[in-house]
Amino acid sequence: MTNEPKAMDRATKMTEVPARQLAGIILMIGRIGKSAVTGKCEALLAETGTDTPTYGNIQMLARRVDTFNLALSNAGIKLPATKTEEMRLALLLVGPETPVCKNCGDLGIDIEGGDEPILAEAGQACPACMGYLEGSGSRSPYPAWTTLETVPPTTTVDVKTVRGARIPIDEEAIRSEFRVDAGLDALLKSEGVLAREFLLWLFHGPEKRRFAGDPRGALDVLENPLAAARNENVLRNWVKDAKAFRIPQAEPASASTQAEPPTRRFAPGAREKLALLLSNLFSSSEVRRLVLNYTTDGEEICRALPEPPCSMRSLVDAVADEWIARGLVNDDLFAELIVARGGRRKDIEEVAMMFKPQPTDAEIYNALCRLMSSQFTTILYFSGAAPGTFSGDSAPQSTRATELVQWIKQDPGRRERIIADIRKAGSALL
Ligand SMILES: [Zn+2]
Repeated sequence: MTNEPKAMDRATKMTEVPARQLAGIILMIGRIGKSAVTGKCEALLAETGTDTPTYGNIQMLARRVDTFNLALSNAGIKLPATKTEEMRLALLLVGPETPVCKNCGDLGIDIEGGDEPILAEAGQACPACMGYLEGSGSRSPYPAWTTLETVPPTTTVDVKTVRGARIPIDEEAIRSEFRVDAGLDALLKSEGVLAREFLLWLFHGPEKRRFAGDPRGALDVLENPLAAARNENVLRNWVKDAKAFRIPQAEPASASTQAEPPTRRFAPGAREKLALLLSNLFSSSEVRRLVLNYTTDGEEICRALPEPPCSMRSLVDAVADEWIARGLVNDDLFAELIVARGGRRKDIEEVAMMFKPQPTDAEIYNALCRLMSSQFTTILYFSGAAPGTFSGDSAPQSTRATELVQWIKQDPGRRERIIADIRKAGSALL
């Protein structure tokens, strides 16, 4: 048992909460809020801005106290502060692993056990009725046939590949939305090939040119295979090929979920500065439009944002969080902001600098050595270091650069200032 919410990876955040867990969330809200939430649980969930919230949407709803309070009040729920906090922390424990009671359908999150809600494990007794808690399934992560990215077992649709379209990727979702041709289905069964494996071969194997990158074409083949394969024999060979097909090396994009969270590489306070910049440059409706238009998953990001009316602060905070989590804070974004608000270029570039990966000591040292001596002297002069900290002008620049790097190690503020100075001296240096 644990009361530590797991850090949620991007794929999980984008996963829709399965219906069973969603029903469990409503029961749990009822269990915590009692009569104060009767008939209002759905309204609270609707504050995520969607009927089919993802785990990320639930996190967004509950992550910040002010956002959650606003959601409660929008839903017409009045709770004592302790209950509010209990409910908020309980919602933060909702993830793919959260078990559901086989008997009453409530979530395996214990709110009676102690000060903070505790996440139970599958197999334990239900905190509401002592019934048996079932896990969300023992399935493993699997490759999405559209992107080849490995997705958690709870992910059933791909909303990224085709804007505005929901492409089913798990076996059940595919088969519930598409009627697999009976002849093809018999072949798949006899070879032991899943529909999603067949689709993966179609979309990434030797026949991939047919679909020009649009997975919907491959789905059509399921329903009408002989329109694509000339005859039953060709189709039979396709299924056999699909069985033997090895998944091509996944796109580098899939590595992003395992990489260090990008925030760690940014200058301290970068996220806050970005949020502040957005609130200074735009109105809240402009912010939403910008989010919508900036990338292909704009709609999805918009759904994860707090619903209006919400404070500008909570809106821009959420935008900054979503963009950072999705690795979207980059030169493209700042170029877009400059296009929108050319008059504020300087402010925008200042924030952009904070999102540049933080250089290492060695990189700073190298950059310092490459400065012209007059530039180097100027940086030292304005460094604010006490006189006598560094060797005089007659010492080699490399010696003084070493001293400067030692000096900035003692204080992150110094480090940031020197990095900014070096970049001002020449943008190619760091
Ligand atoms: Zn139960």
